[in-house]
Amino acid sequence: MHTAFVTRFAPSPTGKLHLGHAFSALTAFEAAQKAGGRFLLRIEDIDQSRCRDPYISGIFEDLEWLGITWERPVRRQSEHFSDYQSALDRLKSMGVLYKCICTRKDIAAEIARSPSAPHGPDGAHYPGTCKHRPATEIAQAISDGHPFALRLDSMRAAKLIAAHNPLLFTDNEGHVHEADPLAFGDVVLARKDTPTSYHLAVTVDDALQGISHVVRGEDLFHATHIHRTLQALLGLPSPVYHHHKLLLNETGRRLAKRDKAQSLHSLRQSGWTAQDVRERLDRLSANC
Ligand code: GLU
Repeated sequence: MHTAFVTRFAPSPTGKLHLGHAFSALTAFEAAQKAGGRFLLRIEDIDQSRCRDPYISGIFEDLEWLGITWERPVRRQSEHFSDYQSALDRLKSMGVLYKCICTRKDIAAEIARSPSAPHGPDGAHYPGTCKHRPATEIAQAISDGHPFALRLDSMRAAKLIAAHNPLLFTDNEGHVHEADPLAFGDVVLARKDTPTSYHLAVTVDDALQGISHVVRGEDLFHATHIHRTLQALLGLPSPVYHHHKLLLNETGRRLAKRDKAQSLHSLRQSGWTAQDVRERLDRLSANC
């Protein structure tokens, strides 16, 4: 059956799922059901130092318990590094990537020297040190084994995209937002030890999987500036974005992985049913 509505839940297996994840997964799953569309599950495990296989089986168990069904096979990002490499090659050929050998300490020191430098939703932008560093110095450091990152040259990206201006994306209520390629400055798109970043992998995968509607928490709203920029550079379609509210617990704090007692696994162990979860989510979401 051909359906126009395709959405996904894309957790990172770095811990157990909690009520916030259940809310996100159910919001996406129910939206797909309502639209007669498709629901996919994607495992975002590019950070091999933090992701663990038992968390992946835990995700499957929790979602099944909630009554969610998804298509197989499940895309696991760590099995698709070559797709992200192709996107990096394309960006490189467009001249919008550069190598950066700065350490966190170098960057902090540089920012301290120029406090009026641009800031974005994540704080101070990378000051662009390596964009102006002699290529020979960078090549030497890399051949000496120095770690490096690949950064987006956001100014060049903005110039290239200017032809399509304004750069827009639409939300699930039909509101149109303007994306700013400069919002986060020269973000990291890959590292020597992690050959893609979240931003690049999510953008490539949403396009490859034909995602028409991205459903995720509003903490990722601003990241859409970067994703929309990458879509424009890579010639990828732009899905509709539904950034849902983040649930708060009774004390007004965001539900997070660190609240172990709130994991779906431990709720299940203590006798909760999937219906109890749904009712609790209804109550919590009515408060925010
Ligand atoms: N993997 C991301 C997370 O666990 C979600 C990515 C997305 O939905 O765009 O926060």
